[in-house]
Amino acid sequence: MRVTRFAPSPTGYLHIGGLRTALYSYLWAKKANGKFLLRIEDTDQKRNSREAAEAIEEAFRWCGFEHDGEVIYQSKRFDIYKKYIQQLLDEGKAYYCYMTLEELDEMRKAQQAKGERPRYDGRYRDFCGEAPEGVEPVVRIKAPTSGVIEFVDGIKGEMKFNVEDMLDDFIIARSDGTPTYNFVVAIDDALMGLTDVIRGDDHLSNTPKQIVVYEALGFEIPKFYHVPMILNPSGKKLSKRDGAMDVMEYKRMGYFPEALLNFLVRLGWSYGDQEIFTLKEMIELFDPSDINKAPSAYNPEKLLWINAYYMKTLPYERIIEALKDLGFELSDHPKRELLIDALRERAKTLVEFIEMANKIIHKPESYDPKAVDKFINEESKALLAEYLKSLKAHGEIGDAESFEAFIKSFLDSHGVKLKILAQPLRISMVGSSVSPSIYDTMEIIGYGELVERIEKFLKHIA
Ligand code: GLU
Repeated sequence: MRVTRFAPSPTGYLHIGGLRTALYSYLWAKKANGKFLLRIEDTDQKRNSREAAEAIEEAFRWCGFEHDGEVIYQSKRFDIYKKYIQQLLDEGKAYYCYMTLEELDEMRKAQQAKGERPRYDGRYRDFCGEAPEGVEPVVRIKAPTSGVIEFVDGIKGEMKFNVEDMLDDFIIARSDGTPTYNFVVAIDDALMGLTDVIRGDDHLSNTPKQIVVYEALGFEIPKFYHVPMILNPSGKKLSKRDGAMDVMEYKRMGYFPEALLNFLVRLGWSYGDQEIFTLKEMIELFDPSDINKAPSAYNPEKLLWINAYYMKTLPYERIIEALKDLGFELSDHPKRELLIDALRERAKTLVEFIEMANKIIHKPESYDPKAVDKFINEESKALLAEYLKSLKAHGEIGDAESFEAFIKSFLDSHGVKLKILAQPLRISMVGSSVSPSIYDTMEIIGYGELVERIEKFLKHIA
């Protein structure tokens, strides 16, 4: 069974780079009806926060990702890690190192003076003497001292690391007994049956260390996929200002999670020239070996374009739900579907949608002075007043077509063109000269409210 995972360190919010690797891992597991695990790597108590872990889970909920099983917290697994540290000590594959901080410092300085790479020199590797007093030892793993560590990365291909250039007997347990990062990642990936590890390529240099742990414990090594970074349009590391912000910020900016996921799946992966993917299609088509070897560039216009596409095409219920998520309740509005159809071609984000919808749903508080200046004169004012009179005399009108038919006959009988009446009507209804079709707008606000809005506007310009 294929097993993947997302393993964030809860040091802050979840940003889109993390969400993208989570998505890739999720898709790859679901494609094989496998398991996708969520593991919170919270062993470093000083840097982790409970809020950050909750924020990650909240972002997952918003995106509709379901992880299999409970969320796993590494902080609850210290006993397991201790057991494996002890096992390695017992088997002579790890050892206590009593080097003091001063000694460590001295060793590094000496290495630097010789122009060597700072690395642990193995002085306690085969130590069998009396333990020096007053030093709480760390535990170091016996790493190979020469040769290469190789693996085939699913994206980058053949990877070879020269042991002498990058490895030493690294610490697996600190002097207070707590296990270190690379050790616990390897232990957990192995115990949780990970078959495929998909993660950012900033972790590439950790992989040889983790392989040392796998080998020492006789665990099976999973397949690794190291995903290149997301860069900003000028080729630099994505900063907060470019879009590397909290995933939930995208919600607040009015993006659909469907659109964000669609945007992210295409950021670094492609399938022909297809741009729009449902989650189902992503699951069917995604394969991490098709991920680009080169970093991908973040492009906010593309995200906006994809979001506008979802706005145009998502079913009413889904749009209503997404609006509700932003605190905008449309489910009781009698004309909600017409309102959505009137706005979905114009609003690119849910925030824009809400702004536009509020203008239609609520009476205007003010009127755009430029529009008033441009479109209101004695003639149009008189015509609007006349229109109001006929509207009241006619009585209730229900739908957009009937509003349109009524205006046509009104204009015919007065021998005037729609041009003169249309903008004053818009300004009466929404406070500016921008609105969807006037007839749809009339149907949405309804006859009684239309009468009130025209009366209010006529007072304003009287
Ligand atoms: N916890 C690591 C991070 O948040 C990821 C570890 C991994 O994927 O192997 O960067």
